Formats: sequence, structure tokens, C-alpha cells
Amino acid sequence: KFDRTPLIAGNWKMNMDHVQSITLLQKLAWTLSDARHDFKRVEVAVFPPFTDLRSVQTLVRGDDLEVAYGGQDLSEFDAGAYTGDISGQFLSRLGCSYVLVGHSERRTIHGESDETLNAKVKAAFRHSLIPVLCVGEGLAVRQAGNHVAHTLGQLRADLAGLPAEDAARLVVAYEPVWAIGTGEVAGPADAQEMCAAIRAEIADLYDDAVAAGVRLLYGGSVKAANAAAILKERDVDGVLVGGASLDVAEFANIVRFEH
Ligand code: PEP
Repeated sequence: KFDRTPLIAGNWKMNMDHVQSITLLQKLAWTLSDARHDFKRVEVAVFPPFTDLRSVQTLVRGDDLEVAYGGQDLSEFDAGAYTGDISGQFLSRLGCSYVLVGHSERRTIHGESDETLNAKVKAAFRHSLIPVLCVGEGLAVRQAGNHVAHTLGQLRADLAGLPAEDAARLVVAYEPVWAIGTGEVAGPADAQEMCAAIRAEIADLYDDAVAAGVRLLYGGSVKAANAAAILKERDVDGVLVGGASLDVAEFANIVRFEH
């Protein structure tokens, strides 16, 4: 099924300090290497808190781990008087390959607008980071049946003015807000419906070749028990995992969804 390399990503949110992060990542690497996981076939990425990234880099380099990592957010600016913010340049220098942009918790708790997120997507590419752009609707929008229009609206606004060569490398995560951390999972058909709509929208904004290259993830209460069914869907190229990424055995089983 996979023309695109599947990506299994773990968002640790505000969990794990710089010491705990090492233990967690080491255990994950051991578990996956014991299982002879082929990281080229199914890519694995983790998103630890900023303060862990230096330790993660040291472990990944020292032990030659094939796990990719990234920040959970970045500033739309490169440097300057932006207290508390983190530049994409710093993430890039710490060996990050990816960065989450527009996670629903950033949109709601920090009030990040699509205009800001558009600037953050561009900032990520400016610093050679691949943004994992998160989009998705809340419960009221879903119940009103407006989920596709709402999510595609976010996508268009967040990608405004982005050149095709950048868009082709993008990762988009469809995360229905009502399914995040709630135990409520969108069905595989819901994930497919939205991922197909996102791919068609990207083909419209750019062209078919760009749309065929973009990887689309589903996120929202993914566990080992439901990952395989979701990943079977044609347009779903991976999953973004919150809670379950903190449990090594569970996350490793999601990574090994084909077994
Ligand atoms: C997330 O934080 O991106 C997420 C999908 O969380 P959870 O898996 O816990 O629902």
C-alpha cells in the first residue's frame, strides 16, 4: 500500500524531563532493535519538550539511533526580542528534522491564528525543518457536519504562499480535536475521508505530484489496538500519537503495526 514511507510520530507534550527523556528513548530504541525494526521502511519520530532536545541529540548521535526528532513548536521569527520563544534555527542546529506546527493545544491554549501558523510553516522550511502541520475540527463543527470545509480552510490558510518545492516535503496531521486525549477515536473511514480531502486540496493548490509526495497522518487516541486499521486506509501515511507514545511497549507496537 505504501508509496510514501509511513511515519509513526510520538508527541510527548509537556511530559518527560531531560533525564526521563533519555530513559524513554533508550528503551524505545532497545525494544525496536530487539524486534529488528526496519527504520527505513517505517520511520519513527519523537517530539520531546525543548529542554530535552540536547540530551536526545546526544543519545541519538552517541548510539547511532535511527529515530528522528523534532520540537513541538517554533517561533515564526528567526532571532530577537521574543522572550520565551524558540527559533527554528536552534532546533535545526540540535539535529531536529521535524517540528510540530499548529497542534490544537497551541491553537486553543496559546491562541495561535492561521496567520501565525502560516508564518511558522515558512519559518520551519527556512531552517530546513519539515513541519508537521496539525489541522482538524472540534466537536461542534463535526456535529454540524462542517468538518471537511473547516479543516481544509485551516489547511489553505496555513499554506498560503508556500512554494511547491516546500509543499512537496510537508507532513500534515489530521487531528480531530474531539478525539485528542479523550479515548474517542475517529474511525478509519473518518481518517480516510479527511486525508483524501486534504490530498485533493493540495493537488488543487499545487499539482498531483506535490499531493502524491505529501505524507498525511491521523492523530487522536491512537493505540496499538487501532493503529493497523487506520494505517490500512489508502491516504493515511502515518499516525501522530500523544498519550500512548509515553508507553514504550504500546508505542513500539504502534510502530510495528504491520506485525
Ligand atoms: C496529540 O497530542 O497529537 C494526540 C493525538 O494525542 P492523543 O494520542 O493522546 O489523543
